[in-house]
Amino acid sequence: MEKLAILGGNPVRETYLSYGKQTIDEDDILAVTRVLKSDFLTCGPKVSEVEDALGQIGGANYATVVSNGTAALHCACLAAGIGPGDEVIVPPITFAASSNCVLYCGATPVFADIDPNTWEISPEQIKRKLTSKTKAVIAVDYTGQACDYSAILQICKEHGLLLIEDAAHSIGTRYFGKPVGSFADMTAFSFHPVKTVTAGEGGAVLTNSSDLHQKLQLISKHGITHNKNLYSKEKDSQWYYEQIGLGYNYRITDLQCALLLSQLKKLGRFAARRQAITQQYKDALSSLPELTLQQETPGSDTVRHLFVVRLNTQMLKTGRKEIFDALRAENIGVHVHYIPVYYFPYYRTLGYEPGLCPNAEALYQEILTLPLYYAMTDADVSDVVSALHKVIGFYRKD
Ligand SMILES: *Cc1c(COP(=O)(O)O)cnc(C)c1O
Repeated sequence: MEKLAILGGNPVRETYLSYGKQTIDEDDILAVTRVLKSDFLTCGPKVSEVEDALGQIGGANYATVVSNGTAALHCACLAAGIGPGDEVIVPPITFAASSNCVLYCGATPVFADIDPNTWEISPEQIKRKLTSKTKAVIAVDYTGQACDYSAILQICKEHGLLLIEDAAHSIGTRYFGKPVGSFADMTAFSFHPVKTVTAGEGGAVLTNSSDLHQKLQLISKHGITHNKNLYSKEKDSQWYYEQIGLGYNYRITDLQCALLLSQLKKLGRFAARRQAITQQYKDALSSLPELTLQQETPGSDTVRHLFVVRLNTQMLKTGRKEIFDALRAENIGVHVHYIPVYYFPYYRTLGYEPGLCPNAEALYQEILTLPLYYAMTDADVSDVVSALHKVIGFYRKD
């Protein structure tokens, strides 16, 4: 057996393979450069162009683009009317922004446990966390696959809750044929460089409701409107505008929108390559009994953002930390997505305690994220697979 790099052997590859990376081509650069030479760096024509494109892709009537995915979630919570005294159900295995947005509104995130097989928020667990204060559910399409929305939409309907979909991972995914963006009350995207398409920084909220759309537009632009029909005074002065609520400056620049438009043209290609790499991983890793793969949600045609494996640590002589360190030494940029949000010291000061969501906590102990991005070559994929065989082979119990 080959000596592990962490024990002084040669690494599986010479160069470090990161877990995610954007792909920027000449068309992207040209698109941004054109905006730099134009009249509008912000509040220009690229904003509504990209909103139209996102509405098309997500199958939604309206899209509002904002400065990042976290701002998108914050705007969605405000548009939903979430405020002090309200509870919002969220999953624990996610990026902190999915529940921080609830705190921004002065409301309380209530963590509902995940399904032990799909690793997505569990409809049964959502039901257990409902109270008279529950106002909304934020479901996260963890790794890019859809949650069990047939059941979740049913719960929301029965209890009069709004569904906000945190689709930071899942642009391009379809659920029973419907694009992500078309079925939740509001769907939030992120265009951070590690996500499937990027604007540098950027986010969007999609909705089919004209009422929510109008609120999202206001909230993301200081609460200010240029729509005369909404004015209470001076309806005929040309200089006039009104602030009719409290909003934020969550605008995105035309530079970023131009980059995003150019990236969206490649979404089909990006998605197909991600799906192909996912399939290669599944084929190559299903023979390793020390690994469990994420079970697909029925109906999800997934464009995967993260490829996460679970170590069956009872079959190994060591724990996740040693396996992680050994893979890093082999130059494989593994990661862990995610630490349960309520483990963080800040959440502990709010009174959250370990033990809230046992399935999520058990999952967190055993997961590793493997590299996955559009520009990965087949050779990169085989390096990851070889490194996993090498490291797991070494630590396998006899
Ligand atoms: C990336 C991400 C966000 C936040 O997006 P930003 O654009 O980085 O603000 C929110 N939720 C999830 C699940 C994410 O992965």
